[in-house]
Amino acid sequence: MKKIKLRAHHLLCVKGFEGKGYDEDFINNMKNIVGILGDNAYVEVLNGCDDICVKCPNMKDGKCVSENGGEDFVRIMDDIVIDKMGIKPQEVLIWREAENKVLGRFQSKKDLEGVCSDCSWNNICKWYLTRK
Ligand code: SF4
Ligand code: SF4
Repeated sequence: MKKIKLRAHHLLCVKGFEGKGYDEDFINNMKNIVGILGDNAYVEVLNGCDDICVKCPNMKDGKCVSENGGEDFVRIMDDIVIDKMGIKPQEVLIWREAENKVLGRFQSKKDLEGVCSDCSWNNICKWYLTRK
């Protein structure tokens, strides 16, 4: 099985991915990662840049420099997700196990406060919009 590095809040984003993103490279990489996860994979959960960020135009010198937040901002989102999942940074899980934790712990918009509530994509994100 392949191993994918994902920063923790991206465990949610892959659930909402519908082919949109920052540019073509980003979208193609995201599609590839979602496909690998669909076949099941190991996931190393991070609170730093990951296999999605590496193809993002907002990553510079290994850090997120997005105008909508930046590394400190997204790291807070990651830490909330890690905490709610009851895991530790750099823990490796099988994707199905990680997905089950995500589905169990993030059922409502209230559960997603500090994560999706502060994300610039939340007005079009399927994952966020379909939470109760
Ligand atoms: S609202 Fe933002 S952080 Fe939340 S799953 Fe969607 S894209 Fe990811
Ligand atoms: S915006 Fe930042 S956290 Fe999101 S994929 Fe790009 S570099 Fe990573």
